[in-house]
Amino acid sequence: MVRARRTDIPQTSLSRSFHRPEATLVDAWAADMGTALAMVIGVGQGARLGACQAATCSLVFFDTTRNASRRFCDLSCQNRAKASAYRARRRT
Ligand SMILES: [Zn+2]
Repeated sequence: MVRARRTDIPQTSLSRSFHRPEATLVDAWAADMGTALAMVIGVGQGARLGACQAATCSLVFFDTTRNASRRFCDLSCQNRAKASAYRARRRT
């Protein structure tokens, strides 16, 4: 079992954790991610949470674009989807 110890994680003035110091790495990560999601939703930014629209990708992301129009998790998924759409148009 892997445990995250307080000494393993660099503590800076900006570091925040929302888990017990003796929590396992998985529990600590899950607690921090759950807290982060709650904070995003709590400040009214839940609409900026999105799921990648690429057919073979299941990643989720926080949309930081100005007009909240992001559709893909990163450029590689976007490029694959656009190339696939282009090939599909060329076939017809
Ligand atoms: Zn993706």
